[in-house]
Amino acid sequence: MDAKQQFAQKILPWYHTHARALPWRGTSDPYVVWISEIMAQQTRIHTVIPYFERWMQRFPTLESLANAGLQDVLSAWEGLGYYSRARNLWTAAVSVVHDLDGVLPHSRAELERIQGIGRYTAAAIASIAFGEREPVLDGNVKRVLARVFDIATPIGTPQGERELWSLAETLIPTGQPGDYNQAVMELGAMVCTPRSPDCPNCPLQTICLACELGIQAQRPVKNPRPKVPTYTVTAAIFERKGKVLIARRPNRGLLGGMWEFPGGKVEEGESLQQGLVREIMEELNAGIHVCDLFGEYRHAYTHFKVHLYAFFANLNSSEPVPLEASEIRWVSRAELKDYPMGKIDRSISNDLVSQNGLS
Ligand code: SF4
Repeated sequence: MDAKQQFAQKILPWYHTHARALPWRGTSDPYVVWISEIMAQQTRIHTVIPYFERWMQRFPTLESLANAGLQDVLSAWEGLGYYSRARNLWTAAVSVVHDLDGVLPHSRAELERIQGIGRYTAAAIASIAFGEREPVLDGNVKRVLARVFDIATPIGTPQGERELWSLAETLIPTGQPGDYNQAVMELGAMVCTPRSPDCPNCPLQTICLACELGIQAQRPVKNPRPKVPTYTVTAAIFERKGKVLIARRPNRGLLGGMWEFPGGKVEEGESLQQGLVREIMEELNAGIHVCDLFGEYRHAYTHFKVHLYAFFANLNSSEPVPLEASEIRWVSRAELKDYPMGKIDRSISNDLVSQNGLS
């Protein structure tokens, strides 16, 4: 029997004795599989668990998610990042209830027509919830396959992706495709880890080419990442009668639908203050006077980093109008917690609250 034939035979018994008891395991409820798979994308499992448990209390069914408001959904997601995942889940739940009588389809192809469900998530739902023979390919699975079968094509390239998908399709067994997919992902997360694979305790050791050749550290091959730029950004804190001004970002794009302190990117040749004056004019059609610096904040997103300077500022005579924002509101510092925000704006908000002695 060759390595491909042995792969599933070796990994399935290992999974049945070593799988972690995660709150979404042991069920074939497609809604549960869907939520857990979307939450786990780009996010560590120990971070996901409390979010998943709170989510299931708040939105226990697909219908309850469809009936919720987007702001509630974004609040439940706050801190997990990649907020388009939450917006897509909500939009998809609404359309499944309206167009499909609240029932998720069984096949990968039909699942892929739903907003926010790509090939990976569709295959995970189809195999785990409905027993369809569809392989999944996430970062963990790619690493395991590249090592066991000594794949030298860089992953992340179109050719590398094609090669891995066609290999994955030959490996998936006819029985227990859901357990099999979870087994490969689990092995990648627990044993065949990026930096220190635990080969002596791996069920695939006897068929693993990278282990035999001692090249685990060179597999998978990755193309070098492009340098991540850092953007200088400013934000304004306006206060009036004990309230501060916040703006809601448009629903599309980075942090879509989340609330923030108005401001934006400083352009080349501008001082921080000049950049903030221009941004507030563009965003709120209001002239301002920039006052003291309140704080500096840094955050790394996937493709860029932000260094943000938050200033107290006063509005000149004009009333702010939401030109680029969807909506603006004056809220008390104590109310800021009720508005979903990204990491940096939540930090500003928390600092304002603790400065006010409300924490
Ligand atoms: Fe990964 Fe080592 Fe197992 Fe190969 S033997 S799959 S390198 S843990």
